[in-house]
Amino acid sequence: MVVALICGGGNGAHVCAGIAASQPGVEARVLTLFADEAERWTKAMACNDFVVTVNSKGKAPTELKAKPTVVSKKAADVMSGVDIIVLMVPAFAHTGYLEELKPLMKPGMVLVGCPGQAGFEFAVRGILGDLARHVSLLSFESLPWACRMLEFGKKSEVLATKGSLTGALQLGDPAPAVDPTAMLQQVLGEAPKLITKGHLLGITLMGTNGYLHPSIMFGFWSHWDGKPLEQSPLFYNGVDRFSAGVLSSVSDEVVAIAKAVMQQRPQVDLNNVTHIVDWYRRCYANDITDPTDLYSCIQTNNAYNGLTHPCEQTSNGRFVPNYRYRYLTEDIPFGLVVMRGIATLAGVATPSMDKVITWAQGCLGKEYLVGDQLTGKDIPATRCPQAYNLPCLDTILGLA
Ligand code: NAD
Repeated sequence: MVVALICGGGNGAHVCAGIAASQPGVEARVLTLFADEAERWTKAMACNDFVVTVNSKGKAPTELKAKPTVVSKKAADVMSGVDIIVLMVPAFAHTGYLEELKPLMKPGMVLVGCPGQAGFEFAVRGILGDLARHVSLLSFESLPWACRMLEFGKKSEVLATKGSLTGALQLGDPAPAVDPTAMLQQVLGEAPKLITKGHLLGITLMGTNGYLHPSIMFGFWSHWDGKPLEQSPLFYNGVDRFSAGVLSSVSDEVVAIAKAVMQQRPQVDLNNVTHIVDWYRRCYANDITDPTDLYSCIQTNNAYNGLTHPCEQTSNGRFVPNYRYRYLTEDIPFGLVVMRGIATLAGVATPSMDKVITWAQGCLGKEYLVGDQLTGKDIPATRCPQAYNLPCLDTILGLA
């Protein structure tokens, strides 16, 4: 029997709890720290089924009816005998879970960030300290599904399941008796096929939202004349050549970081860190009409149809940018600043990242960069290595 603890109370956590509970040989439990979610979820399940509807193209939907054995707000209620912990929440919520779990975590456990998002392993090492070496870490690039919760604590839905999901594994000492990737596969069922390769830092550097969203925001709004617009502009399909150029330069810097790290630590495999244009051609092969270059990949990506810039409406019905949206509030401290922190330790110059961060921190009223140094007062609230006092490449790579 594998005992799986799913952490979170949102879309992914709902679906994961139902899918895991319906797998043979798996006991699913839930820890949700946010507000009164644990209480509401427990109450909802007491006199209702817990249902996950799984849709898949060309097939009739299937309904899974299986409940997690316990949903709680306290780690002490759910941690006894746990083999694998799956964090399935936005990155900004990881710290709370790691702090709550730390006193009850044991050597040999498996800890999964799904998605891990940029800097997952830095948060784990910074918060768990020495214990991090004794835990096997898995970090995945995304959720296994496109999914949504329909009724809290009762119903959720898988809209689509990924064919495969890429991640990376760092084995702890002691390693668990069962391979961690195989253990998670048992928890999730057959699909998606989990593929782990390369170093955890590769997943951090391929946290593409962390530079995609801020670069497009910068490209569009840094030259805005301040006059409200007639409508919210298209975010992706309306991208211009200047914004695509900014994104391409930032992506060049990310690839340069990976190359510099591999040069300095040849045992570290970051070969899966690619330019974002190659990522687009791989991930959206069926959605892009014209894959010529980065500009055309974004402009003609049908998966993005209709998605607009985050805007607020003025009193006379016009539109101005909303800088409080996650494209800056999350993707700067949990994305671009993380990349910038790694660049510092790898000795890579990042003039394009610096332009975007400097503009964004002004919009957010935060301070990350001071000149070209990551010493701003808001660094401790980010996930860059400097926030956790991880001072060199060996510490961020888990080699020290
Ligand atoms: P979600 O938006 O449903 O997560 C909301 C949950 O996060 C809440 O229910 C709560 O449990 C927790 N939370 C919210 N605010 C909190 C706070 N202040 N403190 C502590 N906890 C808080 O997230 P999701 O849709 O399950 O996605 C999880 C991650 O996966 C996100 O990063 C998302 O971008 C990514 N993702 C989601 C999908 C999808 O289809 N849902 C697809 C791909 C990637």
